[in-house]
Amino acid sequence: MVAGCLPQRYLQQELRDALPEVDGFLGIDEITRIPEIIEKIIRNEKPYQVNLKPCFIYNEHSPRFIFSPGHYAYLKIAEGCNNTCSYCLIPHIKGTYRSRTVESVFNEAQNLIENYPLKEIILIAEDTTYYGTDIYGKPSLVKLLQKLNQLKWPAENRIRLLYTHPAHYNDELIDFLAENKRICPYLDLPLQHISDTVLQRMNRKVQKNDIITLVKKLRKMIPGLTLRTTFIVGFPGETEDDFEELCNFVQEYKFERVGVFPYYNEPDCPANKFPGQITQKVKKTRLDRLMKIQQKITLKQQQDKVGKEIEVLIDGFSKKRHNLLIGRSCAEAPEIDGDIIVSGGEKKDIGNWVKAKITRAFPYHLEGEMLTK
Ligand code: SF4
Repeated sequence: MVAGCLPQRYLQQELRDALPEVDGFLGIDEITRIPEIIEKIIRNEKPYQVNLKPCFIYNEHSPRFIFSPGHYAYLKIAEGCNNTCSYCLIPHIKGTYRSRTVESVFNEAQNLIENYPLKEIILIAEDTTYYGTDIYGKPSLVKLLQKLNQLKWPAENRIRLLYTHPAHYNDELIDFLAENKRICPYLDLPLQHISDTVLQRMNRKVQKNDIITLVKKLRKMIPGLTLRTTFIVGFPGETEDDFEELCNFVQEYKFERVGVFPYYNEPDCPANKFPGQITQKVKKTRLDRLMKIQQKITLKQQQDKVGKEIEVLIDGFSKKRHNLLIGRSCAEAPEIDGDIIVSGGEKKDIGNWVKAKITRAFPYHLEGEMLTK
């Protein structure tokens, strides 16, 4: 059985012809139909269940099995996307934005807390800052976070917000993030570029000045903020001047975490047909240069942490150095950012917050020693 985005993307006959050995295909909406699909397979049918207009969004009653370690879990607050970035196929595959209700997200969070030793909940959606606009008539992430503040959970535990969109911040949200200690002072803010001409062709709905104003405001309002962003280099029509502008921006605004991706031509996206396609060689050169600029910035920021005592959530044993533990502070999201390697701990510390003193810094990880448990 093949499930998810692939059958949703490659319609009907195309995929069936390419993979005749597959018993059945499920799109992103078919999870509730799995029993029916299995029955068809048992009857020797080869079901193809893809709903071409995705509409399903799970709720707190849907069966949930978490694939992350039990001390952190992802919690999806919405599905789909109403943005139309010219390089992205996600709205085509996942459909338009569908928020879950505040009550549904809250109830699932409470269920997770009751059933797992959770210390960190990570809120995700294609665009978390757009949350609630479809069902409440206006952006309602603050309303959701206020409700999540009522979770019966020790004060040290954290909520992390990923995948925010620069066009959808407002003062109410920034004020809330600034005042609320439950939310990690960490924001994932994919910017993709800074040149106005590239941003416009990407259809990002923000301009350079908007981005600069937002970044300055976030830095001013949220002390100790870790800002993660991503950039695409080699977007069709990106000139040397555009790229230079991006390098200068990265140099000046000193993000703590930056991911850089070479532009990839996704079939059926508008950007696929844009003039001025950039060669792989130029994309790679630009990617390497931007990463080098960022690496120096990150290393300096990491070095500034040496000697500091920070709270670390222990994830497990290091795969490379078996007697040492690895963990993350609020400044590191799981699977995306680096780790903190911690000495002096034991197996029973896994899944718990500990205090560690940072002793060494590298661009993508820190080392420290455990102080208290
Ligand atoms: S890049 Fe993100 S915001 Fe833009 S269309 Fe794709 S999912 Fe939506």
